[in-house]
Amino acid sequence: MRAEVVSVGTELLLGQIVDTNAAYIAKALSAAGVSVYRRSTVGDNMDRLIATLSAAFGDNDIVITIGGLGPTMDDITRDGVAAALNDKLVQNGDIAAKLTKFFADRGIEMTESNLRQAMVPVHGKPIDNPNGTAPGLLFEKDGKIAICLPGPPNEFIPMVDDFVSPYLLSKTGNKGTIRSRVLRVIGMGESSVEQIVKDLMLDDNPTVAPYAKVGEVHLRVTARHDTAEQAEQLVEERAALVRSRLGRLIYGEDNQTLEQAVVSLLLNNGSTISVAESCTGGMLAQRITDIPGSSRAFPGGLVCYSNNAKVDLAGVSQATLDKHGAVSHEVATDLALGVRKRFSTTFGIGITGIAGPDGGTEEKPVGLVYIALADSKGCKVERTHMLGARNIVRTRSVQTALNMVRLSLLTPRH
Ligand code: AMP
Ligand code: MG
Repeated sequence: MRAEVVSVGTELLLGQIVDTNAAYIAKALSAAGVSVYRRSTVGDNMDRLIATLSAAFGDNDIVITIGGLGPTMDDITRDGVAAALNDKLVQNGDIAAKLTKFFADRGIEMTESNLRQAMVPVHGKPIDNPNGTAPGLLFEKDGKIAICLPGPPNEFIPMVDDFVSPYLLSKTGNKGTIRSRVLRVIGMGESSVEQIVKDLMLDDNPTVAPYAKVGEVHLRVTARHDTAEQAEQLVEERAALVRSRLGRLIYGEDNQTLEQAVVSLLLNNGSTISVAESCTGGMLAQRITDIPGSSRAFPGGLVCYSNNAKVDLAGVSQATLDKHGAVSHEVATDLALGVRKRFSTTFGIGITGIAGPDGGTEEKPVGLVYIALADSKGCKVERTHMLGARNIVRTRSVQTALNMVRLSLLTPRH
């Protein structure tokens, strides 16, 4: 079965909101074995909506619409779909009564336009919406299916999970199911990762595709098979092959974040960490403390932005600062050693760099960052030259720091 997703709303065309719903339903459709052939976005304009829907029904079996089911003048999806499918809408007594009660309970006067939300297709039925007043609509007419869902994500997402996915699976007979997994890679750029899995990227089932993120690369492995179990097995086999090639470059899977991976390694090892941050201004501490339970591994950290703070808080020596400058191998080392001592932790991290956009020199350009990791054996420093705007430099610095901790916690390979 082929589907098109049609998002309705002028605010989407103006870029005022991002179409997160379309991304959500796209995953649900592929998981149910429905191929999405096109995604369209159209404003709140009846002529253009009908033209878009007619083209969508011309090319596809299923059309999913998002948004435009509310009570106001610009909510035209219901009428547009009925027109495109040549169906009629009739008032549903139960929904009308429910709406009337909803407004009466709240002491608000119900306008005539609110009752538009009680209009349902002759060839179809309403879809329950427990979180809002606008029900969804299912049209089944002349071999075509339309599923119309409201725009607010808190209404949309449960309706996809509770109605759309089971409905689609019943239509596809759970055949041709798609499964995918994301392998999260750090410490190597996208093009180098690509070289390692290039041959696998040529296969069309399972597929392997890289996505560059800030400071990491995600490899998505996707497989299609008759049943979910078979698709899952194909994914697992291909993921195992990718893992065997990338080894420690893979830090996690699916939604696991780098900080989750690092905190769980710290906890498993009974290790602790403290941080002294200059150019990242607390971002590393925030990433670590985003993880519930991180308090057992992270007693605290320092934000040492000025030279004075580096001296007073982290015990960096004034002479070192004078001789080498704040952005230097030596100061990063002192920050890491100083904070580790101050908090008595297994690891101490020091980060100092030039995040930009100003402050760079020929010798010390914007993006130059020193990251030091101190432990009982001493201190290791990475000098990196990060490309990108201020926040990208800062985020990449945090990624690098977390990865240094991760690698030192992994048991060495033989
Ligand atoms: P509507 O159902 O068109 O009245 O949309 C109601 C609200 O839902 C909008 O103001 C947006 O905040 C949100 N919304 C609508 N369409 C989308 C979408 N495709 N993705 C995410 N949010 C949306
Ligand atoms: Mg709208």
